[in-house]
Amino acid sequence: MAYILVVEDHIDIAEGLQANLEIEGHEVDLARDGRHAVMAIKRRVPDLVILDLGLPGLDGFGVLSQVREAECWCPVLILSARGAEADKLQGFRLGADDYVTKPFGTMELLARVNAQLRRASVTGRTETTTERAAATGTVAPRDPQEIESMLSERFELTPRQASVARLVADGLTNEEIAQALGISRFTARNHVEQVLEKLDVSSRARVAALVHGGGLSSMGA
Ligand code: CA
Repeated sequence: MAYILVVEDHIDIAEGLQANLEIEGHEVDLARDGRHAVMAIKRRVPDLVILDLGLPGLDGFGVLSQVREAECWCPVLILSARGAEADKLQGFRLGADDYVTKPFGTMELLARVNAQLRRASVTGRTETTTERAAATGTVAPRDPQEIESMLSERFELTPRQASVARLVADGLTNEEIAQALGISRFTARNHVEQVLEKLDVSSRARVAALVHGGGLSSMGA
């Protein structure tokens, strides 16, 4: 379905991710250090990069800034044991799309990977790959308004909450949601909390799974 580069020097984590992503039908390459990662990305731009921060030589931040300087805009999901807010902010400032802290749950990570891939294909951020044509044939993209009205109906969301729920499902962070809707980050966070409560789910990944995993259309339809 997609070509994913996993940049990770911890071989067990790298191979575990590779196995799980391949089960999902993705093509996966591994890079064990920053320099090789940059070379690999420039050689063939992936549909998604999963990027560790603590790498030998050039670290993950260095990889990210070199990749963005080279005008590669593929989605980058940082996967790091460094959970400090300063690290996350630095990652987003350099152009990361999502940030997952180790240790991580495999199902949640896969849901976030899928959310990023979906978002990238909706916004046309990644170049067409040979797999993309096949991928678009499998799931008809639904109209955002249709998704929002289904959410409103099923879960009694306000229009604003429905918009927030859809953006969460598309993998946007609170900050990005705030930007997209022209509201403060604080307000965005409150809306997200209300949405999780009304949908009766415990994580953003579950919102994505519900909206994009077919749960929305099968419920009561
Ligand atoms: Ca590492």
